[in-house]
Amino acid sequence: MKGLGMGKRAERVDERDTIFSRMALVPGSRVSDDYYARHPGRWQADDALRALPELCGQGSRTYHPENSLYAPAIFRLLARWRPLVETAAAGGAGLQDPHATSERLKGLARYYGAHAAGITALAPEFTYSHAGRGDDYGREIAPSHRYALVFTVAMDYRHLLAAPGLPVVAESARQYLEAAKVALAVAANVSALGGAARAHLDGSYLAVLPPLAVLAGLGEIGRPGILVTPDLGPRVRLGMVTTDLPLNADRPRPLGLQEFCRTCGKCARNCPAQAISREPAAPAAGWQVQADRCYRFWRQTGTDCAICLISCPYSRPLSPLQRLLRAAAGRSAPARRIAPRLDDIVYGRRPFRRWAPEWFADP
Ligand code: SF4
Ligand code: SF4
Repeated sequence: MKGLGMGKRAERVDERDTIFSRMALVPGSRVSDDYYARHPGRWQADDALRALPELCGQGSRTYHPENSLYAPAIFRLLARWRPLVETAAAGGAGLQDPHATSERLKGLARYYGAHAAGITALAPEFTYSHAGRGDDYGREIAPSHRYALVFTVAMDYRHLLAAPGLPVVAESARQYLEAAKVALAVAANVSALGGAARAHLDGSYLAVLPPLAVLAGLGEIGRPGILVTPDLGPRVRLGMVTTDLPLNADRPRPLGLQEFCRTCGKCARNCPAQAISREPAAPAAGWQVQADRCYRFWRQTGTDCAICLISCPYSRPLSPLQRLLRAAAGRSAPARRIAPRLDDIVYGRRPFRRWAPEWFADP
């Protein structure tokens, strides 16, 4: 899968090692003591990160006593939905035709609000080895489902233009909420159709979603280590439902993105944390962001930044010219050289600016 920016994974990711899991550790608690006893080299750097303002918190550069409240409120709401993620089969039609069932589930996902949906076998190498969040912390993960429906939800372009301001993190939270709604609705329908299902929501994922999205035909992994889709670029959030129903896996759909990223590099040039590789090609392990650097900038700024998302030429709203450019860039080297330059001319080398929705409170 190197050609799609994914590389080969030597071992499964332990969710306890992810930055969000580490930041949730309470210093002095049994779990924290146990973690840093196993990873003594991480304690000092993690403690320095924990000392920074919370995301959307007081003391961060974008803090606002009202506008900073919206995103955390949504993430707290999502935490209360986590007990809903497992659904058992509840009778139903007992669908046996994998092709028809697959089309049904993808259609349902789009009906409930997904932008695009695809199906893949749940490759074990992309599932977490151990849970790193919530009550299941430390539990070994042994997924029982064979298939995953992976889907995207679209992020609003105008909100992302405000990167790295507060409208960005409000929009991220809104799309995590959308993805959770779609996943829970599809899982409820799988149950009604006679299958067991698990919805994967923010804070309760059992797998690393971007590579599964690539396998499901939704795009490729781009230079910042995130999914880049053909029509929305990286301007998406991901959701997933796994099930024991027999399904038909889709095939990966190459976009020619790896060659495009090689000549473009706009996200890396604009990244304020220098967390994105400037190497010409993806390393053997695939494109990966330096998560700690990126996250440090988030905590200092008070939002989830998104400068790399809005910098990407693939994020532009689709027009006939954009369609033509992307089709040409997928096939021709001269088009790949021209397209990023054109993007600089039309949208600017740093395509973000101060903007807020009219319902935000005044600064
Ligand atoms: S979110 Fe911001 S800091 Fe993080 S990789 Fe993207 S541009 Fe860099
Ligand atoms: S901005 Fe350019 S280099 Fe970065 S992901 Fe998009 S196409 Fe690739």
